[in-house]
Amino acid sequence: MGKALIIGCGGVASVVIHKCCQNSSVFEEIMIASRTKSKCDAIKEKLDGTTPTKIRTAKVDADNVDELVALIDEYKPDIVMNIALPYQDLTIMDACLKCGVNYMDTANYEPEDTDDPAWRAIYEKRCKEAGFTAYFDYSWQWAYKEKFEKAGLTALLGSGFDPGVTQAYCAYAQKHLFDQIDTIDILDCNGGDHGYPFATNFNPEINLREVSAPGSYWENGHWVEIPAMSIKREYDFDEVGHKDMYLLHHEEIESLAKNIPGVKRIRFFMTFGQSYLTHMKCLENVGMLSTTPIEFEGHQIVPIQFLKALLPDPATLGPRTKGKTNIGCIFTGKKDGKEKTAYIYNVCDHEACYREVGSQAISYTTGVPAMIGAMMLMTGKWNKPGVYTVEEFDPDPYMEALNKWGLPWQINDNPVLVD
Ligand code: NDP
Repeated sequence: MGKALIIGCGGVASVVIHKCCQNSSVFEEIMIASRTKSKCDAIKEKLDGTTPTKIRTAKVDADNVDELVALIDEYKPDIVMNIALPYQDLTIMDACLKCGVNYMDTANYEPEDTDDPAWRAIYEKRCKEAGFTAYFDYSWQWAYKEKFEKAGLTALLGSGFDPGVTQAYCAYAQKHLFDQIDTIDILDCNGGDHGYPFATNFNPEINLREVSAPGSYWENGHWVEIPAMSIKREYDFDEVGHKDMYLLHHEEIESLAKNIPGVKRIRFFMTFGQSYLTHMKCLENVGMLSTTPIEFEGHQIVPIQFLKALLPDPATLGPRTKGKTNIGCIFTGKKDGKEKTAYIYNVCDHEACYREVGSQAISYTTGVPAMIGAMMLMTGKWNKPGVYTVEEFDPDPYMEALNKWGLPWQINDNPVLVD
């Protein structure tokens, strides 16, 4: 069918690469391009000969549009998959526009330097107007809509699990289960244990920024913002058991609030153990989560980047992690004039993921939908010039692909609701 350029070669990209190689009738050729080429070469060496997919590798600095353009022009992919970091979303979108190629990613834009005065001015205006203070939001990428439309290109934003699969669940509920969705609670439970006192399951910088920020939810047409970790609930998750979960701001709330007509409330909860929270609070209190550079013995150091260097690399957690994840959406609303509830969710086993692709379930649950999102564009099922999130497309082929490619979902019609 075609060629994909995969940018980034970390924890999630490793799963994407394995899954593309399993799906070689769609991904006949891939190029893995990242900042550290040796990581790309190591995966190529592992997979060459086990798959019909032809693999090439390259070094690229994805912050540099000219370098990206040169690489895309030389390789001529059918799609560019941004599996690097949210910091690179805009430069990679710019390069795709210059080269006339479709784009996809797994997380919305966030600047690396949140002290940049030009960015800060726009951010502060948005905080006031929109009512939430997260560093990431869709406005930067939605601003590319017209350019992608004019170029006849599709940009698919946020095709991981959450964002990503959670929005496919919403589109599916809207299409097949409800006439009107009133509330959506997205529940992200990781019941896995890696045995370390403290580690993050994906990029520590992105993860800790997200978790230490104020929480917020959408209610009756506006955002309600709350101090970080100040709304806590307990939930009994299928195949995992009882866990404490906390309300966080999360990017898909922003697009779902626009795209699910008449929705009254959308919340996002993630499970955390007490030990994780205590470690995080302590690191925050001593300034280790700061993104502002400090001078140390003649060097400029960004505290959170130094912390990243100390923490275990998420890509190495695979062999140590036991237990399961359970991520899904609880809906309330109406069907045929009657009140209705539904819970669509996936349970994923860390050890089974490791046996299959050598990664833990957090990378797996993100990497599989990234491959599926790219497949939707490459097979023409989701082509629609412009910039779109997952719930804006027909959920049926995506939901079918989730069952086929390792993330089967189930529906409980009578779930316990979150108060
Ligand atoms: P990692 O830090 O493990 O990997 C990031 C990769 O990007 C690394 O290979 C890194 O290179 C590369 N990279 C970083 N900067 C550049 C650059 N300027 N040029 C080229 N390559 C670069 O992150 P993860 O794999 O954990 O996460 C990947 C993405 O997935 C993130 O955007 C994250 O937010 C998103 N995510 C989405 C989820 C979802 O459900 N939607 C869930 C989890 C993650 P190097 O190896 O040199 O460091």
